Amino acid sequence: MRRLSIIGSTGSIGTQTLEVVRENPDFTVEALSCGSNIELLEEQIREFKPSLAAVSREEDAEKLRERLADVNVNIVSGMDGLVAVARCEKSDTVVTAIVGMIGVRPTLAAIEAGKDIALANKETLVTAGHLVMKRAAEKGVSILPVDSEHSAIFQSLQGNDGNAIRRILLTASGGPFRGRSREELENVTVEQALKHPNWSMGPKITIDSATMVNKGLEIIEAHWLFDVPAEKIEVLVQPESIIHSAVEYEDGAVMAQLGVPDMKLPIQYALTYPERRPMPSEKLDFTKMSQISLDIPDRDTFKGLDFAYKAIKFGGTMPTVLNAANEFAVAKFLHGKCRFLEIYDIIDYAMTLHEDKVIEEPSLEDILETEKWTDEVLAQKFGGNE
Ligand code: NAD
Ligand code: MG
Repeated sequence: MRRLSIIGSTGSIGTQTLEVVRENPDFTVEALSCGSNIELLEEQIREFKPSLAAVSREEDAEKLRERLADVNVNIVSGMDGLVAVARCEKSDTVVTAIVGMIGVRPTLAAIEAGKDIALANKETLVTAGHLVMKRAAEKGVSILPVDSEHSAIFQSLQGNDGNAIRRILLTASGGPFRGRSREELENVTVEQALKHPNWSMGPKITIDSATMVNKGLEIIEAHWLFDVPAEKIEVLVQPESIIHSAVEYEDGAVMAQLGVPDMKLPIQYALTYPERRPMPSEKLDFTKMSQISLDIPDRDTFKGLDFAYKAIKFGGTMPTVLNAANEFAVAKFLHGKCRFLEIYDIIDYAMTLHEDKVIEEPSLEDILETEKWTDEVLAQKFGGNE
């Protein structure tokens, strides 16, 4: 039984989490939140009957209160609202399905309130991994990975308590531009970058997959979740997205989790762990499969991995700068205000500028200040995102 708060319930992970809830009658939804899609949030509130809901802006909260005058639900707004959803007294688990490092404060608030975290919001671990993992251990709460690769690693670790990890094999689809040269990426459009071959996801992570910054963020995510140094995390391109990741042990045995690309499996496993439950989804049919191919990533063209290794090497606030610069650049690209390859230039500029400014063991305030600093230096150099 899980009593859930979901932050980011109207997005790709949020709506799939609610599909999983529909299949598991012992789960309840206590609190929901979204940015601005109040039409969908209204439907979700009518169906799942949470007692609390949050939206970004107070004017949207006002509208939602009017629409839901016949329903017994408390509607709040802003960062305080997000934190209230994360701390909701009735819930025991918070699903972090929000996009971006705006998830840092609600995630930490949820941990302080003793909630288990089903974590999709990787940007939070990238920027505040040391705070999240430390407080979670101190409070005795679980951080259950939802990201498919990290769920695969988590599943491959079961039954191996105490066995040292030789390598983590983090798989990547390679995204829509796999195999292309830098020249061929000069003029790619937003529409092309949004066409992921295997997964249907929110726009930000889809662009991150095309640049392979997503895989970079996932290296940092794996580093924190599984306490493994960067040198032991190796990225392999697996274009069909069937091997979701693997763990190699000291004797050379490789344990992997395979399956069709469907986020509902890692979502459900995070919520039912250690139990496995039936799922109404498509299953792998090895007899119909033409191939499972593997390749090494092209790190010269797709710089996302090198950024991550550099961020881990510098540590402290450097991963925050990588993440904040990427959020800035992706927003610019999605608004048609920069070209695809400029995403790399923007990240590289901010990280290089930060090299002599790294704060070690940053506090939450240091992290939020560093995000602000990154936005300011980038707006000065490349123009703001307004
Ligand atoms: P999405 O854009 O589809 O959904 C984001 C959700 O967050 C929406 O409900 C939106 O309303 C809410 N939100 C956005 N900005 C907000 C704000 N300022 N205040 C309050 N709410 C806000 O994103 P997604 O694809 O579902 O991804 C969510 C997270 O999960 C990301 O961190 C992503 O990296 C991670 N993730 C997603 C997938 C996937 O398949 N979609 C897979 C692995 C990891
Ligand atoms: Mg992933």
